[in-house]
Order: sequence, then C-alpha cells, then structure tokens
Amino acid sequence: MKTVKLQVDAMSCASCAKAVEKALSAVTGVDKASVNFVSKTATVNVQNTLANEQPLIDAVKRAGYSAHLPVRDRETQENRAARRQFVKVIGIGALLVVGWVLGATKLVPATVATGLVIIALVLAAWPIFLRAIKALLGKRLDADVLVTIAVIAASSVGEFVAAAEVAFIMLLGAQLEEYTIRRARRSLGSLLSLVPPTAHVRRDGKEEEVAAAELQVGDVVVVRAGERIPVDGVVQSGMASVNQAPVTGESMPVDRSEGDEVFVGTLAETGALIIEARRVGEDTTLARIAQLVEAAQQREAPIQRTLDRAAGWLVPIMLTLSALVYVFSHDVARAITVLIVACPCALILATPTAVMAAIARAARAGVLIKGGQYLEATARLHTIVFDKTGTLTHGEPEVTHVSRFDQHSEAELVQMAAVAEKMSAHPVARAIMRKATALGLVTEDPATFEAHHGRGVVAERNGQKLVVGQTGLMDDQSIVMSDALHTHMDEHHDEGHTTIVVAHDGEICGTICVADTVRARADEAISDLRKMGIEKVVMLTGDNKRVAMQIADKLGIDEVKADVLPEQKAAHIESLRQKGRLGGVAMVGDGINDAPALSVADVGIAMGLGGTDVAHEAADIALMADDLSKIAFAVGLSRHTLQIIKQGLLFALVYNVVMVTTAATGHLHMIGGAIAHQFSSVLVIVNAMRLLRYR
Ligand code: ADP
Ligand code: MG
Repeated sequence: MKTVKLQVDAMSCASCAKAVEKALSAVTGVDKASVNFVSKTATVNVQNTLANEQPLIDAVKRAGYSAHLPVRDRETQENRAARRQFVKVIGIGALLVVGWVLGATKLVPATVATGLVIIALVLAAWPIFLRAIKALLGKRLDADVLVTIAVIAASSVGEFVAAAEVAFIMLLGAQLEEYTIRRARRSLGSLLSLVPPTAHVRRDGKEEEVAAAELQVGDVVVVRAGERIPVDGVVQSGMASVNQAPVTGESMPVDRSEGDEVFVGTLAETGALIIEARRVGEDTTLARIAQLVEAAQQREAPIQRTLDRAAGWLVPIMLTLSALVYVFSHDVARAITVLIVACPCALILATPTAVMAAIARAARAGVLIKGGQYLEATARLHTIVFDKTGTLTHGEPEVTHVSRFDQHSEAELVQMAAVAEKMSAHPVARAIMRKATALGLVTEDPATFEAHHGRGVVAERNGQKLVVGQTGLMDDQSIVMSDALHTHMDEHHDEGHTTIVVAHDGEICGTICVADTVRARADEAISDLRKMGIEKVVMLTGDNKRVAMQIADKLGIDEVKADVLPEQKAAHIESLRQKGRLGGVAMVGDGINDAPALSVADVGIAMGLGGTDVAHEAADIALMADDLSKIAFAVGLSRHTLQIIKQGLLFALVYNVVMVTTAATGHLHMIGGAIAHQFSSVLVIVNAMRLLRYR
C-alpha cells in the first residue's frame, strides 16, 4: 500500500471534488481517494500493483479535469499562471467596456460595437462553458452549468452586454477567490521554502556544496551565521544562537552547542555550527510538520460533508425554481437572474476556507492541529487535564537525597538503581543515571529488564532481583516496607520530592529522592485558561499525592488525581467526559504513558519536541515547543474560527435566500445578480482569511 498525491486542476466547486474522488476510486488498484477542493490536491491510497500514476491522471482527465504530480516549484508556476490569467481578465474587461461605450455613444455602427461585446462574451464565457460541458458529460449539475444556461439564455434574447458582463463578473470573482486562497496556502508553502536549497558538506576534509536533495544521514554539514540549517541533526562542534521560530513558534533564539539537537529550516543568527545529519529530506521535522498540516486540511470537518451533500441537490432545485419563475412571469431575464444568484457557492466555501486558514495560522505559531474537527472540539472545552511530569514540570528531575536503609553504601545503592534503570527512558531513570555518572560509577547492563509503566522497573543483576520504583511496585513484588520507611517517605513527599524505593533480593536497601522544577509561567498559562472560561483544571499523575499537592497548590489547580496508573489515566478522562455537560475534556501530556489518555480525550494535546513520538501520534494537537501558553492560544483561535464559520454560514444562507427572493420577484437585474453572487463568495473567503492574522 502506498499513498500518491496529485495536484488537480480545473475544479470549479466542491461538487467537482466529489466527482474527481469518484473517478479516482473507480480505478483498479485504488483503495481510497480523497480530494480537497480548497488545496486542489488528491490523496490516493493505492495498492503496490499500481506501477505508476498514469492511470490515475488519465482517470481524472476522463472525468473532465486535469491532474499532475505535485512539483516542487509549483508555487512559482502558479504565480506565473495567475498573473497571465489576471492580464487576460483585464483584457476582456477592457474590450467589454470599449464595446459598450462605443455602442452607447453611437460613435461606430451598432454592429461593430456589438461585435466587440460578443468577442468579450465568448472569451469570458469560454472557460465556464468548457467546465459546464465537462460537468454535464460527468452527469453532474453544478454552478458552471447554471451560469452557462444563464449566459446562453441571455444571448438568445439579444442581451449580449448583460451576458458578457455576467460571464466577466464570474471570471473576475473566481480570480479574487483564487487569489485569497492561494495566499493562505502560501503561508504553508513558505514552511518548506525555509529548507535551504544547498548545504556545505564536509567530506574527506574538504568542504563542498551539495544540493539539499542529495544530503544523507551521517553527513557533516557546516552552517555559518546568517544561514539556515539544512538538516535535522546534532551539533558536533561550534556555537550559535539559533532562531527556531519556524519549527517551534518560539521567537526567542536559543543557544546551541556541542551535543544539542538542531532542526532543519532554523536560522543560525550568530556563530557557526558543525552538524551531523540525523534526518534529511522527507523525514525531517519540518517536512513532517508540512505533511501533517496538509493532511489536516484534507480532513473534512463534519459540517463540511453535510454541505457538500446539500450542494448536490441544491443545484437541481434551483434549476426547477428558475423554470417555475419563467413559467409564472414569462420573463426570461428574471429566470436567468434567479439561476445566477441561486448557486450556494459561499455556503460551500465558508467552512473549508476558515479551517484551512486557522490550521495554517496555528502551524505558524508552532501548534499543529490535525484536523478541522479538533478546532470544533477545542472551541468547546470546559475541562483541561494536565499530566504532571514533563508537562507541568520540566521532566528533568534531579536527585536530591540518597538514604540508606541497610548495609549497602550510598554509592552501592545508586549503582544498583542505575543498573536497573539503565534501559528505562523515564525521567526518574535518567535522573538516577546522571547521578551515577556524577559519582563516577560504572553501570553494567542488567541481565533482564522489565518496565512497569507508571510504577518503576524490575531488573536482574548477578542472579539477584532489583526492584526500583514507588511503593505500589513494592507491594506488587511482595517486598515488605517498614513503618520507618513510610514515615521517611511522607516527609520527603511533603517537601515535593518524589521518593523512589530501591530493593535488592527482596529487601529494601534505601531510597532516592528526586525533585523536578515547575515550568516557567505554568501558573500564568493556567490562569489564562481560567480567564477564558475553562471551568476545571485537573492534574493527573502517577506520582505521589503529597508531591502532586505541592505543585497543584502553587499553580492553582482545582483537582488532583495522584497515584494513577497509565491505563487509569484514560479511564479518569472518560469519567470526566461523562460528567461534563456539553463541551469536552482536553488532556495535555508528554509521555508514552499518556498516549491512551490522549486518544480518549476529546482533544489530546502533546507537548513539545521533547515529548515522545508516541504521544505526538496519539495527539490531536501537537505543540512544537514546551510552551504551555500555546494551549490558551489554541483555545482562542479555535473559538474564533468557529465564530468565523458561523458568520460565513449564516451570512451565506440569509444572503442566498434574500437574493433568490429579490430575483424571483423581479427586483434584481442580471448583472446586479452576478455582482451580488460573487460578492458573497469573496466576502466569505476574505472573512475567513482574517484568521491568518489572528492575534
Ligand atoms: P507522571 O504521570 O507524573 O508522568 P508516571 O506515571 O510516569 O508519572 O510515573 C509515576 C510514578 O511512578 C513516578 O513518580 C515514579 O515514582 C514511578 N516510576 C515510574 N517509572 C519509574 C522508573 N523507571 N523508575 C522509578 N520510578 C518510576
Ligand atoms: Mg509525564
């Protein structure tokens, strides 16, 4: 199974997208095809038996459209095509005006003036006419068919100027629509344009310039001040202040030196870096962001699907309505005007354009929203649940105390714990490993290792069992804990230190305390959410209750659920969802253990690039930086988007009804109708594009 992407041209409205989808799905070897009208892309899942894209491109052609593989420089191509098209439209307009003025002032014989108008008419109507024929051949009725019928009808009763003006206005409106949509798409295209076209690679001691496409994992690249980093990689040497805004949305540059991770597309503002490439091309973070965002825009919001279906039967209804108007009024012009204003274009455009703009805006701020439906859900949140470790805290705890409970020395205690934790990626494990390194201890690999998520680890060394974790794990392993140990732990927990018990051969040897720091401005982020009307903020953690309370108090959190196992996190989210009335519950987390909860929540939000990939996969919204304030941003943007969609739908609906009524009762002229109709589509799109400039 593979996925093929195609660029589809000549689609004039949402119902065309459905037709292309149908045509693609009918090709043998195609499992599923989805076509996005706004971005003009088709995503096709095909079986491997399909050798190349040609059958797909042919199928689209047969359906009356054209398709080609997306090209890297499609933006420049598009711009050039758009400029040509614009010049053409201006030319047609000029011709029309000249013909009309000459005719009205009688400076030339009437036939000459009419001739000019007819030329303008044919030029303007031709593309619409062609699309209408295609639609009819594909057994569809769409906006182009309506306009074509209107233009032909007007010409047949000798209203050439009116017919030409209608066609011209339709052409001009389509131009405006395309222009605004292209602008929104460009803000995504610009993400990938941040990848430098070439890189300086060091090979065999020599530096050469290599095209970005030829870079390989393991290449050593040199980046100097003012250059963009061409790969995802790790700094080998050098130092630089790097602006990571395109990837993380953070505007403050960060200092990067040996051992630090850097991302493609980020800018070395000062200094220089020697970087070893870890990910190149399509695998880089930036490319993944772009893919994710594109996929998100393809995903239709539920409301959109209903509207597409509605458009399918609205057109025949409008044709009938127009016929009825003619039957009762015997007024061709009136029936034509009804046809022109009846097309529900603005209604169809309202949702996809707003969703696209919002997702693009969010991506620029380092917030990846994976689909329109999550915008809807985020706008309706009433409860936000935070994981503690790695989410509210930095997730980089440090060992604060080591306490012995038997004959083992402090170093022995740390060493045993470190051997057991060696294979664990948990923050606590990493803290213990760092401590062991600081003490200069050698840690061999454990003979066996078993991670108990949310509890600790069990390992074997020299045939003896090592158990390292919280008290629950000790109970599980039937290790007896003394009252003295419990008292000792409570004391440390009350100080906000997580206490880990270390047991060897079934006996307690001692404890290791670790403390984590709360993220800067976490309290601000939470109070912002509260100001926005989020009713409940909950903290969910596998850590000890006493430790959790310490942090909750500092941050102003309403409810704390401590000592929860990973699977209980999901169950707890579920129960919060049941309790909640209208609206939803968001879960913010970072770790593997949060993944189930992230998927159960109405909106799963994964923390920054430091977060695990599993969490990013399971999440509906991924934050590129560990910046809690982005949650309030996402909520605000989502609400604003929903508002804009509602404005668009309501406006389009009322406007259409008013226009059809005005036209049917003979109060609107053909040309007025055309202007009025295009005006509504453009207005809805321009309104949606305001989201690009949100806050
Ligand atoms: P959180 O929900 O705060 O992210 P976890 O569910 O990952 O925390 O872990 C809960 C508790 O389980 C930790 O506070 C720690 O006491 C214990 N724990 C988990 N993994 C380990 C480990 N590898 N070593 C020691 N203790 C662990
Ligand atoms: Mg965590």
